[in-house]
Amino acid sequence: MLLTPHILAGAAIATKVHNPVFALILAFLSHYFLDLPPQTEYSVENIKEKRWRKSVLDFSKVFMDISLGVLLIFSFSENTFLIYTAAFLAILPDGLTLLTIIFHKNKVLKMHWRFHRKLNALSENKKISPFWGIFSQIMVIVAAIYFLI
Ligand SMILES: [Zn+2]
Repeated sequence: MLLTPHILAGAAIATKVHNPVFALILAFLSHYFLDLPPQTEYSVENIKEKRWRKSVLDFSKVFMDISLGVLLIFSFSENTFLIYTAAFLAILPDGLTLLTIIFHKNKVLKMHWRFHRKLNALSENKKISPFWGIFSQIMVIVAAIYFLI
């Protein structure tokens, strides 16, 4: 899943779940749940392959994706520290994946990478049209904004 829906889902959870600790745990776990359905994503192949000079475009996409999520939280939420922390935790698993590419000898990061990879692989062979892959993510964004307001 793109980062914007993950960020907004985390923020929405923090808005609706009243226990802050429980909200943060749920925001983190929401990442794995939202990675389960088949979805359309942009390529970050250059980052994965450590082609750092070519990965400027990949990092730009990631930056724009995160910026859009933060902008939408800023526009629609109460802008509390908890909401932004939950949004951060909701994309942390993908951040850990990036760290695994850089620090590939760390065993804990590697274990997490395998788990995250397996979750994503569950839906990879289920081919869906790009329309549904994007539509599902737009629906997550719309639902999250509904709960944020
Ligand atoms: Zn992920």
